[in-house]
Amino acid sequence: MNYKVLYRKYRPDNFENIIGQDYIIKTLQNSIRNGNISHAYIFSGPRGTGKTSTAKVFSKAINCLNPVNGSPCGECEFCKNFSENPDIIEIDAASNNGVDEIRNLIDNIKLTPTNGKYKVYIIDEVHMLTPNAFNALLLTLEEPPKHSIFILATTNIENVPITILSRCQRFDFQKIKIDDLVERLKYVCENEKISIENAALQEIAELSEGGMRDALSLLDQLSKNGEKITADLIEKQIKTVSQKNINDLLDSLENNNIDNCLNLINEYRNRAIDYKTLIKKLITIASKRAKNIKITGKYIRLNFKEYKDFIFDLSASLSRTNINVDNFTLLELIFLDYLESNQEETIVKKSTKEPKKIDEEIVEKEKVNQNTENNIDLDNIVNIRINNCFVNAQKQYLEKIKKEIINLNNSLNIPGKIKTILIDSIVVAASDKNLILTCGNIHNVENSNRMLAEIEQVINKELNENYKIIFLSEKRWQEEKEKYIVNVKNKYVYNYINEDEQIMNNIDINDVFNKSKVEIV
Ligand SMILES: [Zn+2]
Repeated sequence: MNYKVLYRKYRPDNFENIIGQDYIIKTLQNSIRNGNISHAYIFSGPRGTGKTSTAKVFSKAINCLNPVNGSPCGECEFCKNFSENPDIIEIDAASNNGVDEIRNLIDNIKLTPTNGKYKVYIIDEVHMLTPNAFNALLLTLEEPPKHSIFILATTNIENVPITILSRCQRFDFQKIKIDDLVERLKYVCENEKISIENAALQEIAELSEGGMRDALSLLDQLSKNGEKITADLIEKQIKTVSQKNINDLLDSLENNNIDNCLNLINEYRNRAIDYKTLIKKLITIASKRAKNIKITGKYIRLNFKEYKDFIFDLSASLSRTNINVDNFTLLELIFLDYLESNQEETIVKKSTKEPKKIDEEIVEKEKVNQNTENNIDLDNIVNIRINNCFVNAQKQYLEKIKKEIINLNNSLNIPGKIKTILIDSIVVAASDKNLILTCGNIHNVENSNRMLAEIEQVINKELNENYKIIFLSEKRWQEEKEKYIVNVKNKYVYNYINEDEQIMNNIDINDVFNKSKVEIV
């Protein structure tokens, strides 16, 4: 089998096949026609945009014995033996720091070319050279021999020293347009007899973000098993989402459909979609919408500023992808932040149906709020509830409530604010009466404990339970767990403490705590 990967097989060997860089190609062809050739060029631009291919075709053209309109003839001795030509020297600065290569280059640069008119040095990823290598290169560029031409290529022009740049003729390669990529992909598919639908061509072009190499590599990967390539197949294999998926998600956001948003995000989580690609696509499409709002002045629910903030939040979440958490949880939180809770509506509905209960709830709420205003009382509540949870903490309760909380997150009856808290926290201990939850950061712990009454009310109503809840930091929970283990080993018995009594009588919980632990011999 003589299988050649597509991007190598279809690497352009003439100017006509270099896609999407018309201006650069024309300028280079003109310079050959006019015999106006510089000694140093720098090609900058994103990967896969044709920099190296252009460098090679250009070096072929300048040495060609019978160039046709600035292009290599493809027939002469030089064109035919181009790939074995010792006068075309390629250096990849990315695979080594380049000092030896550059030194070697300088040692040999005085020697005249063996075959062609010019010796051409193509230095790929030139920004990777060490400072020493750059200095050596600079000396050569200051006084290049007549027969030498340098073509430097880089994806990071900002990392190339200005002293080098100032000695080069610069060409900035652009990302290849979607339409141009589609066109080329279509050509390759026809040539290779690859069966593909139009939507899939479009999808591959979009996924490769303006890079021909990526586009052809993707096509390679997708065509391996000989199946017809469809947009569905791409979604399955590449673990990416389609344009339509993204629009569905943003439409749900616009329509304030919390359920749909969370379901879709969960679906992407289950499909193991690549998070970074998802966010990039979201940003691209959301930005288009934001621009449109600015231009037309019309919007559905989110205005321009909200879109802008949303996009900034999305992009900030990318920098957190190294942390060992489920990235999709971050995404859920970002979405919830831009969704409106329907909490007010719930209260109005309730007050017409159950006027008595709401009064009780308000009293209850005020009570805890008063308590939480005073940190000593909050400390007391925390200690009591930890104790009370340990009285009857059991694995079966924990497993049950964990499942129920997941269902709560998909319920329409839970206000967004509380969903945000629930998604960010984990139930770490549960009894039949008490729940202990931990939050990722201290800030959330404080906020959540300040809203205890509200959270309990919502959860208990949904689950038809009467849980007392407390939020702890991860650190505090570890400490409490260790204490608990020691206590159990020492055969301490946890006794239930009546929270309301303790608070009303303003008794220091630590006294009660010590008394409550009865030692069993
Ligand atoms: Zn030729």
